[in-house]
Amino acid sequence: MSALKIAYISPEVVPFAKTGGLADVAGALPKALVEMGNNVKVFMPLYSITDRSKYGITCREKNLNIDIAGKMQSFDLYHCRLNGSECDYYFINIAKYFYRDGMYISSQSGKDWEDNDERFIAFSRAVLKSLMVLDMKPDIIHCNDWQTGLIPAYLKCSEGEYDYFKQSKTIFTIHNIAYQGLFPAHSFYKLGIDRKWFYPTSGFEYYGKVSFLKAGLQFADILTTVSEKYAEEIQSSPEYGYGMEGVLRERSEDLYGVVNGIDYSIWDPATDKLIKANYNFRNLEGKKRNKNALRRLTKLPLVHRDVPLIGVISRLTDQKGFDIFVEVAEQVFELDLQMVILGTGDEKRENQLKELARKYPKKLSVNIRFDNKLAHLIEAGADMFLMPSRYEPCGLNQLYSLKYGTVPIVRETGGLADTIENCNPSKKTGTGFLFKNYDSWEFLNAIRFAMEVYKNKTVWKELMRRGMEKNFSWENSAVKYMRVYQKAMSKQDVGSRLI
Ligand code: ADP
Repeated sequence: MSALKIAYISPEVVPFAKTGGLADVAGALPKALVEMGNNVKVFMPLYSITDRSKYGITCREKNLNIDIAGKMQSFDLYHCRLNGSECDYYFINIAKYFYRDGMYISSQSGKDWEDNDERFIAFSRAVLKSLMVLDMKPDIIHCNDWQTGLIPAYLKCSEGEYDYFKQSKTIFTIHNIAYQGLFPAHSFYKLGIDRKWFYPTSGFEYYGKVSFLKAGLQFADILTTVSEKYAEEIQSSPEYGYGMEGVLRERSEDLYGVVNGIDYSIWDPATDKLIKANYNFRNLEGKKRNKNALRRLTKLPLVHRDVPLIGVISRLTDQKGFDIFVEVAEQVFELDLQMVILGTGDEKRENQLKELARKYPKKLSVNIRFDNKLAHLIEAGADMFLMPSRYEPCGLNQLYSLKYGTVPIVRETGGLADTIENCNPSKKTGTGFLFKNYDSWEFLNAIRFAMEVYKNKTVWKELMRRGMEKNFSWENSAVKYMRVYQKAMSKQDVGSRLI
């Protein structure tokens, strides 16, 4: 396959800024694509939380101009490379939009920033402007989630302004269809796109509002999402498609599921510098030391040596299964187990979990914060990992858990269904525990079953090792993305048939 020029656009990228799995993906996939010989430039906003001096981020171009709502807005383009990698990272610097406490929502109020439309119009236009200034005509412009959904639309609907990109093909990846970038109709005029493109059922319109997500779904040449199962689910019903199932069914032939990989240079217990002791599937001794360290750090007492420790690292939202968790919490904590939860999210869930921790101080430690180091120690120190998600586009923590010998207990949905095989102790198969329906009792039973299997140390170690030997490296997924890119490049223009 010949090398491609790829512009990879994401609102968050590890190690610069992260709220969830998208940042992990945007940190890892471009690196893997560069290692395959491609020329990749990654674009993201320059947030105030990003440490410029740590990563050597410097200004490349000053005072570039874009149009937002008919007004001129200037921005600066920053750049860095990381440790010898040839991947280029570019940052759109507009202080008024991106120097804030919270990337998409205000940390204080917990609500979306009111000008999110302008912020991501500005980002999208600034990325396109930067590519022109850098004189990079990409073969592929790879966009991710609603914050970048306008980019394919600008290329198809701007009538002349972006002719520079005539040969470029766009990919739009859905990391979570529930987040849609939905704005009042009057936001449309801020786009600078002719009004004729905004009418009921058009590529921008969703029940009278402007949807940046729908623009991406309609105008990108190819769509992908982060697991095969999720690709099916989001077309199947409103429960999974969040209103976009019809749009997706229309574009079914252009929609591919490519499961995420993980970056083993960051997530490998043999080399992880953030954990207490390194270990691998041949020698599991270090795992016990991590378990002790995790217990000490989270103030859980040593009740007896055989108590399994269960880990949870998650956004605390109902997507992640906290409603069914709370329903059976009493029964869960009657079991002989301990649990460490790390997460932030809905205030109601945070309070419920804190209340449970007060009730079961010897069994449950609840840590309401974003803490990357503790996340690594939980993966290394826990015996089991819970992900009872209502839906899960891909999920990364179950993949980290496999690598760390921390057996996942997951609902059979999306990427969880694609990456975890149910344990069958007598056949010595499987890598975790699955339950089918989104139901608190099925969830509880899966935990009970895992606890039973845990009692047999030999069987449990075999189960851990089977998971640890799995390979979800990015190279495999990057090869699949390259195939998707080739498909996009062989496609005829789809824009003209949409109006
Ligand atoms: P999502 O993107 O839906 O939140 P994923 O499983 O795809 O879920 O990815 C979540 C990523 O964010 C993982 O790398 C996980 O370790 C990390 N993460 C989530 N919450 C926290 C937290 N409170 N502290 C540290 N890392 C977190």
